[in-house]
Amino acid sequence: MSRRTFLALGGTAAAGLALGGGVAYSRNKVLTAPRFSDYPFTLGVASGEPRPDKVVLWTRLAPDPLNGGGMPPNDVEVRWEMATDENFKNVVRSGTEIAAAYQAHSVHVADQGLEPSTYYWYRFKAGDEISPVGRTKTTPPYGAPLSSLKFAFASCADYQEGYFPAYRAIAEEEDLDIVFHLGDYIYEYAPDPSSTRVAKTPAPDDIWTYRDTYAEQKLDPGMQAAHAMHPWEVIPDDHEVYNNFEGEAGQSWRAGGALLAYWEHMPLRPSAAPTWEGGVPNLHLYRDIEYGDLARFVMLDTRQYRGEPPDPEAEGDTEEKDTFDPNVTNDMLGHEQEDWLYDTLDSSETRWNVIGNQIGMFDYQSGSDGNIMGWDDHGYARDRVTRFLDDRRPSNPVVITGDLHCSWVSDLKAYYPDEDSDTVGTEFVGTSITSGLGDWYEEAYRYHLGQNPHVRFFDERNGGYVRCEVTPEEWRTEMKLADSIADPESPVRTFASFVVEDGKPGAERA
Ligand code: FE
Ligand code: CA
Repeated sequence: MSRRTFLALGGTAAAGLALGGGVAYSRNKVLTAPRFSDYPFTLGVASGEPRPDKVVLWTRLAPDPLNGGGMPPNDVEVRWEMATDENFKNVVRSGTEIAAAYQAHSVHVADQGLEPSTYYWYRFKAGDEISPVGRTKTTPPYGAPLSSLKFAFASCADYQEGYFPAYRAIAEEEDLDIVFHLGDYIYEYAPDPSSTRVAKTPAPDDIWTYRDTYAEQKLDPGMQAAHAMHPWEVIPDDHEVYNNFEGEAGQSWRAGGALLAYWEHMPLRPSAAPTWEGGVPNLHLYRDIEYGDLARFVMLDTRQYRGEPPDPEAEGDTEEKDTFDPNVTNDMLGHEQEDWLYDTLDSSETRWNVIGNQIGMFDYQSGSDGNIMGWDDHGYARDRVTRFLDDRRPSNPVVITGDLHCSWVSDLKAYYPDEDSDTVGTEFVGTSITSGLGDWYEEAYRYHLGQNPHVRFFDERNGGYVRCEVTPEEWRTEMKLADSIADPESPVRTFASFVVEDGKPGAERA
């Protein structure tokens, strides 16, 4: 369905989607003592978007998770509790939220008035049922001195490609402050009988089937454990909608439904819920998060606001194009987000400035094959970012990236056509939780390494994540891999480590 068709459907279509299959919202009696056909907290709990005084708590009631959730068409009252101990002897905050039928009975709690840099344990109650317990942690006070931050970043968890020992290992790293998920949280693939674990849900194509796909993903115990142990900061990439998706949520019925289902299943703030301006869903995802005076994370949305990549035949030489031309159409972030990025980095006073990013930002010259399908395809937009880093020199820029299903470390150059231009930042691309690379890409990437001297490291293996430890003096990256994604209990080990020193862009092997 085109954007035009979607708009033409207007209020009726939007209302039908918003109200979850035509449930009459105004006559919806809220159930305060619901009874469930089965245990309703099958999808676990999660927390996200931590701040010094609050954190989003998430769950969804789904007694029959793979078949639409199995809930009555009513809204349901859910009670939440936060305690300073895992046994809930010292409950310090509690309240009631409505799990709305039109939002798939998901719950997003925020604004609790918490203490900074503090661990909290949380749980939900609905009727007589109690959820699993989650642990979370608030961020330090804004600008406060911070001597250390530990986090993991991950991406690309194709359910059918294998189990999630990498998520399980993230759960076991109890000292992490936060986890960043950089996209491809689900894949929209049809069940494949030849895969390691065959999906029971069909390929999703509307909001109801995307909900079932999320539910199946979230039944995984390793994934549930990783959510329950740490707060997550999440952004979607393409497969949350479909392969190579780009454009706004409102472009089609399918995209709108997919991104609404994403919000419903993520610990994203209630105010990030898709709005329906002009009858089309609008999902504002780019945002920043800071950890005292040590690190700011700018989370980008590189999918919703893109322009077309340039046609290399038609556009001519990159070097001849004015990359600061505000009218260039080959956008990656859209002007609003790009301005926000520069304003945010320009005013940032943290030691490290991290860009959480979906697709590879480094340049990869590969002739006609092995294209990394990243910012390369939108070269002028990428050059504007690296030239901004060169001109304005925000403190220690580091880009963390997913999407590529393999591991890379690269210098970010002020201007790639000139290999002698300054290194202005560092990029770490983490491998996938499971998704594979494919032999063709592996060979093509390897073949062209020599043409790309700014690339410091490449490893083709999948099934892992990245752990980072940051202090005022240095950034340390540990790349992790499972021995086998065919085994949910597989050991996970560090296979490569890198250090970036304060004030010195570019990573060194540690
Ligand atoms: Fe992926
Ligand atoms: Ca992707």
